[in-house]
Amino acid sequence: MALFQPDHTFLCYRDVSAKFLREQGIDALLLDIDNTLAPYEQPTPDAQIRAWLQSLSDAGIRVAFLSNNHAERVELFNKELGLPVRYDAYKPLPRQAKLMVKRLGAERRRAALMGDQIFTDVLCAHLAGLRAFLVPPIVDRTDRGTRFKRKMERKILKRYYKKHTNAPDIRGGSPLTKEYTKA
Ligand SMILES: [Mg+2]
Repeated sequence: MALFQPDHTFLCYRDVSAKFLREQGIDALLLDIDNTLAPYEQPTPDAQIRAWLQSLSDAGIRVAFLSNNHAERVELFNKELGLPVRYDAYKPLPRQAKLMVKRLGAERRRAALMGDQIFTDVLCAHLAGLRAFLVPPIVDRTDRGTRFKRKMERKILKRYYKKHTNAPDIRGGSPLTKEYTKA
């Protein structure tokens, strides 16, 4: 069960600051894209995402994308950013995460992976020996498979919040949802 427990939860990616990463001894951050930084439907990074990424790189934090999505989506999203990317990463398999940390010239014990899926991103992080940061999905799917997964995730998070009573509670969803879903 420890493999499924995040190390930190955040209401949204913007809450992860360079200062926090430094305090945690982290100098490399691997990022999931879909529903972590932007919904599936958003093809390119908005100004807020770009500003946040810039603030990390200004502080010397090395950043890369690690996505299970395909080349077309990931490369278009990264077009203006030019960050190291791995698409078709097959998370939770840890291989591509390990390779990416190496490619960044970082150490796994000083690296973290941030994503919105416990059974994909958190598990991948721990299998690769990285810290796991979890955010709620920005625009969640509502199909049966996803609903079942969320039920399992809630059980894991219940345990997490019993231990981490001061951690931001992500079970209410993402504050970014309303920015992306028009009424
Ligand atoms: Mg995702």
